[in-house]
Amino acid sequence: MDIFRMMKTGEGIEQLEEHLLDLDSEFRFKCRRCGKCCIHQETIILNARDIYNIAKKKGMTMQQVIESYTEVYIGSGSRLPVVHLLSNGPKGACPLLEDGRCSVHDCKPTVCALYPMGRVVVGEKFGEPVDPDKLRVKYILNEYSCGSAKRVNTVRSWLAKFGIPENDEFYILWNKVLISLTLAIVKLEEEKVSKTVLDMLWSAIYQALFLDYDITQDFMPQFQVAAKKLCSLSETIIKAQPPASPSEEEAD
Ligand code: SF4
Ligand code: SF4
Repeated sequence: MDIFRMMKTGEGIEQLEEHLLDLDSEFRFKCRRCGKCCIHQETIILNARDIYNIAKKKGMTMQQVIESYTEVYIGSGSRLPVVHLLSNGPKGACPLLEDGRCSVHDCKPTVCALYPMGRVVVGEKFGEPVDPDKLRVKYILNEYSCGSAKRVNTVRSWLAKFGIPENDEFYILWNKVLISLTLAIVKLEEEKVSKTVLDMLWSAIYQALFLDYDITQDFMPQFQVAAKKLCSLSETIIKAQPPASPSEEEAD
């Protein structure tokens, strides 16, 4: 499911809609604490707040967290730098698993805390390209075969259990920034800008999204400043006229 493509085009969003949950939707799940989801897990993407929280917990810088536990690549759908936890060791365990326990349990990455649920942002209306200024958060129940069905949860109770805000201001703004940047990068790629320019841009985006934070200060005000700069950058790129092709220049 290519969420970023759906965001851009609106295609396939109806299938997604059928699986979306609201805050009062119920699902049956009780974790057995077997730890299997912390092994051979290649899908845990970290956002900047996750990295900030882990850095604080571990007494590291955000750069050290990224270098020690993750790998960074350019997402094929988002066309943006993606940071994901890198399983290591002979058993392919999560690098944050220590003595069979999550070493950052009280601030574990949002993806881990939400499991077996996931979150997506959707636009105001289904079937239309998403407006980054009108995002809504929806939840989706991933396919899972672990745990037991002994407990009935609501999405709301699950979020409360892990201290995840129902109206997560960060998550909305994070996605607004990502969607805006994706649209800008896709435009540049369609205009066939050079790899050097794209690399410089990716490097600046990576720095602003994931590294330029002081972990002795609150996260959100710092992210709001970064978000403003990055949205303004995207807007400038999206509004800019593409450079004239050589044949057009000759015609002039
Ligand atoms: S961060 Fe914690 S909960 Fe998430 S996979 Fe790693 S050890 Fe497991
Ligand atoms: S979420 Fe599932 S795999 Fe992970 S510890 Fe709980 S029961 Fe085990």
